[in-house]
Amino acid sequence: MRVPSNPLVLIGPAILLVFAASFAAIWLRDRRLQYLLFFCAACLFFCLGTLSQILAVPDGHGPNAMASSFLYTLSVLLLNDGLLRRSSQRLSLAGYLAILVLICGGIAYFFYVDRQLIVRIYILNFGYGLICLATAWRLRQLRGGMFAEKILFWILLAFSLHFFPRTVLTVGGVAPSAGAFGTSPFWLALQFSLAVLGVMLALALFAVTVSDMVADLRHERAVDPLTGVLNRRGFDERAQELLADARNRPISLILVDIDHFKSINDTFGHPAGDAVLKDFGRLLHTTMRQVDVCGRLGGEEFAYLLPNCDASGAHVFAQRLRESVRENRFEGLPQTQQLTASFGVAAARHGESLSELTARADAALYRAKRQGRDRVEVEERTAKGSPLSTTAAD
Ligand code: GH3
Ligand code: MG
Ligand code: MG
Repeated sequence: MRVPSNPLVLIGPAILLVFAASFAAIWLRDRRLQYLLFFCAACLFFCLGTLSQILAVPDGHGPNAMASSFLYTLSVLLLNDGLLRRSSQRLSLAGYLAILVLICGGIAYFFYVDRQLIVRIYILNFGYGLICLATAWRLRQLRGGMFAEKILFWILLAFSLHFFPRTVLTVGGVAPSAGAFGTSPFWLALQFSLAVLGVMLALALFAVTVSDMVADLRHERAVDPLTGVLNRRGFDERAQELLADARNRPISLILVDIDHFKSINDTFGHPAGDAVLKDFGRLLHTTMRQVDVCGRLGGEEFAYLLPNCDASGAHVFAQRLRESVRENRFEGLPQTQQLTASFGVAAARHGESLSELTARADAALYRAKRQGRDRVEVEERTAKGSPLSTTAAD
C-alpha cells in the first residue's frame, strides 16, 4: 500500500462517498426509487477504483490495472443500469457479463500478452463512452421530458462524448510512458474533466430524483388509493384544466353512482364492498379513452369527463358502460349477484364552470335514480335555456 504524498488526492473518493451516502439516504426515505441503489453502488465502486489506484492496492502494475479496471467498469455499468431502470428499462445480466469480460479481458491481454498502455487507455475510455452513448440513445425520450430530465439527458450525452476527443487528442499528442503516466497531462486532464462532468451528472441525478419524488407526491395527492382512479381533488384539478382548454369544442360529464350499494355492504360486509369499489374503478379505468378523465368523487360515486364528446356521444358511452357494469362479475360478490349503476350525463355549455356542469349532471343522475335506477339520463338545454331531458333505458 502506498500512502499518498498529497492528501488532496483523497478529495475525489471522499466526494464519491458523500454522493453514495446521499443516494442511500434518499432511498431509505422512499424505497420505491430502487434505481437510487444503483447510483449508490456506482459511486461506491468508482470510489474503490480511485482508492485502488491512489493507494496502489493491490500492489504491482498488472493486478492494480486489472482491479481498478474491473471496479470502474462495474461502476459505469451500475450507473447506466440505474439510469435505464429509472425509465423502466434495464441492462441484462448477460450485458453486464459481456462488457466486463470484453473490457477486463482486453486490459489483461494488453498488459500481460502484448503490453500497450495506449491500447488500454483506448479500451477503457472508448468502452465507457460507448456504454454511456448506448444508454443516452435508449433514454432519448428524456429530451421531451421534465426540465430535470432534459438536463440529465444532455449532461449524460456530454459525459458520454467527452471520453472520445480527449483520449484521441492527448494520446495522439504525447504518448505517456507507463512510469510517468500518473503525472502526465493526459491523466490529470482526464481526471479533471471526469471529475467536473461526473459531479454535474451526479447533481443532475439528484435533480431528477427530487422531481420524481415531487411527481410521486402529486400523484398520491391526486389518486384514490382504493380504486386507482383520481380522487375528488385530482379530478377537479384535471377537469377544470380540460374545461378551460375546451373553448368551442364539446366536452361532456358523466356522473356514475352504484345502485343500492349500502345493501351490498350490509349483506356481504364492508371488505366485500371495498373489493367491489376496487373492481368498479378498474372497470371504469379500462373503458376510458386516453384523453378522458375519471375520478371517484366520494363513496360509490364516480365521474367521467369526456373531451371532444357531445351529449349524444356521452350518452352512447354511458349506455355502453351501464351494460358493462351489468355484465361484469365483481370480486367480493357471489356469481349470481348482479350490480347496476345509474348515470347522469350533461354536455358543458360555453364558459360553464365545473360546479355548474356537475350540478346539471347530478340532476340527471337524480332523475335516473328516481325513475328506477340502472338507467342513463341526459341533461340538455335548448339554445333558449329551457330544460330538455332525454331518457335512455334498455
Ligand atoms: P342508491 O341506489 O340510491 O345510490 O343507494 P346506495 O345504497 O348506493 O346509496 P347510499 O348513499 O344510501 O349509500 C352509499 C353507501 O356507500 C353508504 C356507505 O357506507 C357506502 N360507502 C361509502 N364509501 C365506502 C367505501 O369506501 N367502502 C365501502 N365498503 N362502502 C362505502
Ligand atoms: Mg349509490
Ligand atoms: Mg351515492
